[in-house]
Amino acid sequence: MPASPNNTPAPTSESVGEFYDHMGLFFDSLYGENIHFGLWDDDPNPSMPEAQNRLTDRLIDTLHLRDDDYLLDVGCGTGHPALRLAERTQARVLGVSISPTQVARATEKAHTAGLAAQLQFIQADAMHLPHEPETFDAAWAIEMLFHVPDRLQVLREIHRTLKPGGRLVLADFIQTDHLTEDDWNLLTQGFAFSTLLRADTYADVITQAGLEVVQIHDVTAETRQNIRWIEFRYADHREDLAAHYGADFTTQMDRLLPTGVSIYTEKLGYVIAEARRPVV
Ligand code: SAH
Repeated sequence: MPASPNNTPAPTSESVGEFYDHMGLFFDSLYGENIHFGLWDDDPNPSMPEAQNRLTDRLIDTLHLRDDDYLLDVGCGTGHPALRLAERTQARVLGVSISPTQVARATEKAHTAGLAAQLQFIQADAMHLPHEPETFDAAWAIEMLFHVPDRLQVLREIHRTLKPGGRLVLADFIQTDHLTEDDWNLLTQGFAFSTLLRADTYADVITQAGLEVVQIHDVTAETRQNIRWIEFRYADHREDLAAHYGADFTTQMDRLLPTGVSIYTEKLGYVIAEARRPVV
């Protein structure tokens, strides 16, 4: 079973939506347009946007999309991964986020890029997708499953809405060491974490949802440098964040961020999981 905090109530879908509505500027400042980590190589002048695009590209390549494929983007953020996919493939995308602010931003980006015919974004809870069975040829969920109260339910929804043979790729945090109650409090309250799995049990819940695991890649080592970038960006944007959210926010973040960084460095990791809905 997924690990979860002992005493801190896990976030609800609704509170995760409020978190992202509220934290837009925070993520813009620290992460840029993609709300996900990147994969870093030994480039002498590395940058977070490049590393993030490298992750998105790895996921796109994994899916082997055909021109008329229809992809479900579960937890689409402000639409940047979907825009990248639309630049590289002809597939159509339906992006789903629980945050209405993100859906509005993603929709506007698609219009501005002239990609409105290929990309659509809606507000919905991934726990209950408003789609007919066997709608999509492929799906991805990039850094969203750790937020949901019941990841099995979300994976079942993905299974239900994928066509038989449909491919799925997940990018997600994993737990690599024991998390104390204080660790969980921080992850839950500061960053809306709900559950985490370990690398060796990651496949179980995918299988329980009726999906077939193709491969699970532990890419933790390639993600470590994100943390340095985020710390550096926080130092650079601290004043803007204080002006926008108030001084209490940055005072709290001054404590939360370094602790979150230590937790990530010492006790969390990162996987890319490939799965598919069996044909029969
Ligand atoms: N995949 C995007 C955003 C990752 S942030 C990117 O890589 O840029 C996590 C995303 O998951 C946010 O868009 C958040 O709104 C979404 N999310 C979290 N819980 C959700 C739920 N229950 N239903 C739908 N979306 C959810």
